[in-house]
Amino acid sequence: MWIVNDLNLKKQARDLGVNFWQTPGFLFIMLGVIAVVIMTATFYISKNYDSPELLVLAESFVVIVILVIGNLVIKMVEQIIKLNKMKSEFVSVASHQLRTPLSAIRWETELLLSKFRKESVSGKQRQSIENINTLSGKMTRLINDLLDVARIDQGRLIIKKMPVNVVAIIDEALIGVSAVTKTRNIELIFKDKKKIPLIFGDPEKLRMVIENLLDNSIKYSTNYGKIEIKLSKKGDFVTFNIKDNGVGIPLEQHSRVFDKFFRSDNIVKYQTEGTGLGLYIAKNIVEQLGGRIWFNSVEGLGSIFNFSVPINIKSKN
Ligand code: ADP
Repeated sequence: MWIVNDLNLKKQARDLGVNFWQTPGFLFIMLGVIAVVIMTATFYISKNYDSPELLVLAESFVVIVILVIGNLVIKMVEQIIKLNKMKSEFVSVASHQLRTPLSAIRWETELLLSKFRKESVSGKQRQSIENINTLSGKMTRLINDLLDVARIDQGRLIIKKMPVNVVAIIDEALIGVSAVTKTRNIELIFKDKKKIPLIFGDPEKLRMVIENLLDNSIKYSTNYGKIEIKLSKKGDFVTFNIKDNGVGIPLEQHSRVFDKFFRSDNIVKYQTEGTGLGLYIAKNIVEQLGGRIWFNSVEGLGSIFNFSVPINIKSKN
């Protein structure tokens, strides 16, 4: 399958934003074709002319062609790495700049909401202020996700090391979502919380992963759904499972679930909220913590997302 993908030069050119003759795939094929043509020519020349000078000349020519094309490929790769670095830096700077005025908007709307008593603003006015507050909250979360992605891409994700109570993190996360699960009649079950030791890791990062998986199970559950969370300890690892009976993920898209900006076809039409960054960030965090993340999902039946992390997380920073 990967050979077919590698030979799809049009797609490669589109993905990399270059002409098709500049794609590594095309240059690679050219390298092979030129090498075969020149070797065949060399064979016939040496057979018919019996001239060592011609042979040396032909071989030198092959080496020069290979060097030129090899140099082109290296230049292309260098250019892609540079552009990628610039893109991450741009996202990082733009997100930082956007976060400051957004925080100010949230402060102002919160101030307005707390200052005005019911009688001084109409219901409609209050609703508008609440909408601005909710929307700026959503934008702040998106910006924070973009900042995390830029940190991951630049290798700047910092992992702290301290004792963490994962059970407490899950309990707090469940309180945070209780209002929405209540209105949507989703049943939440958290099992096996007693036998779990403290983890020596990063509380904020673990919280982000857990909250993301929990938010997804709720977001992609139907009303009257059921979500079960389980924690277990095996050897030196603690494993977290979250199972829902929601919409699931189409089998043909399973390989892309942890890709940046991925959103499955079955949800994009009705669930407009989401960026496709949560699982990319979660995977990177779990791996930085020395663990792994995986899932099983059947479209129309539900999903189970799991991650396991070592009890004593080794800091890489
Ligand atoms: P998003 O912001 O879209 O939720 P994520 O990176 O968290 O981004 O998830 C990527 C995609 O994986 C989602 O858009 C959805 O298609 C799919 N997905 C993740 N979790 C679930 C789940 N529990 N049930 C069904 N689909 C899921």
